Amino acid sequence: MSLLETLRRRIAHDGPMSVADYMSECLLNPTQGYYTTQTAIGATGDFITAPEISQMFGELLGLALAQAWRDQGEPSAFALAELGPGRGTLMADMLRATRGLPGFHAAMDLVLIEASPKMRALQAEALSAYAPRWLDRVEDLPQKPLFLVANEFFDALPLRQFIRTGAMWSERRVGLDDHQNLAFGLGAPTAQPALAHRLEDTREGDLVEYSEIASVVTETIAQRIATHGGAALIVDYGDWRSLGDTLQALRAHAPADPLDTPGQADLTTHVDFEVLAQAARAQGCAHTRLTPQGVFLERLGITARAQSLAAPLDGDPLTALIAAHRRLTHPEEMGNLFKVLGLMPETAPPPAGLEP
Ligand code: SAH
Repeated sequence: MSLLETLRRRIAHDGPMSVADYMSECLLNPTQGYYTTQTAIGATGDFITAPEISQMFGELLGLALAQAWRDQGEPSAFALAELGPGRGTLMADMLRATRGLPGFHAAMDLVLIEASPKMRALQAEALSAYAPRWLDRVEDLPQKPLFLVANEFFDALPLRQFIRTGAMWSERRVGLDDHQNLAFGLGAPTAQPALAHRLEDTREGDLVEYSEIASVVTETIAQRIATHGGAALIVDYGDWRSLGDTLQALRAHAPADPLDTPGQADLTTHVDFEVLAQAARAQGCAHTRLTPQGVFLERLGITARAQSLAAPLDGDPLTALIAAHRRLTHPEEMGNLFKVLGLMPETAPPPAGLEP
């Protein structure tokens, strides 16, 4: 049975589902979910991510986290963690770049949080020189200093959508139309305490999004960092606060309708970094300013790194390297759309490339 058929039956039985439940089924259904069945990332997949564009991305993030480790007195046992490591490319580049740093690899407990068995297999291959272990949930992160990276992880987390109705909110749901096709509908208006702050910047009929799970994941990471030390670099597509529907589907590098071909397209949303920053603060963890990816990478020295990689190259490899540098940093490419938020203990300096 296709995922579409599974969803039709579920909706016929239980009624319309939240956008969050729909996203969860499409992305992570154990047998038919997008991440559980496809290896979607990369030039031949449905979308390409920063670490797949160039090794420079992972190298610079690795050095930034290693610097944070040094700034905090080189704790002798710590977790180096990644959320949603994809093909394992980012972590492999981070580890290669930090190999020469005395004590860093010896002290680390390498932990990966990944839901998809297919992705876990790719990560095991990419990281076979190290000894990673996989965790099912962020709650399983060890109680140690935590140095963590997450690139394009939060944009895959399920979120709910609400339309303002007076001072209440009607939830947008996925149901069935008269032809048994998936269709959006609206639930009855209810009070939503988590959206109290959105009564300030919305009007009747506006759509807002809220990811409870993004908030809970951030709280857990922030608790570890506030208690034991560490730092997190969260890189994603989004801004401080979004307004309107940001749910989008991507299939073979082209936009698709999120309700078409469930389970066969990547679904993402813009990340509201405000929610993450609030969750961190609630745990007594400090956060940096939200910084455009291009600015962050320039501050970390991406141009010097590109020049040194370029030195022995000419022809197509050189052209490709210049294009990759531009793609990661230029404001009209990923440089401005992607943002970086750092988390750190209140007593520690912000990670390199970021400002308090
Ligand atoms: N960070 C990688 C991959 C981004 S794609 C890169 O930059 O290339 C999102 C990744 O998060 C995939 O590995 C996917 O399987 C994983 N993922 C998505 N939702 C998840 C969840 N709820 N729990 C754990 N992993 C998840």
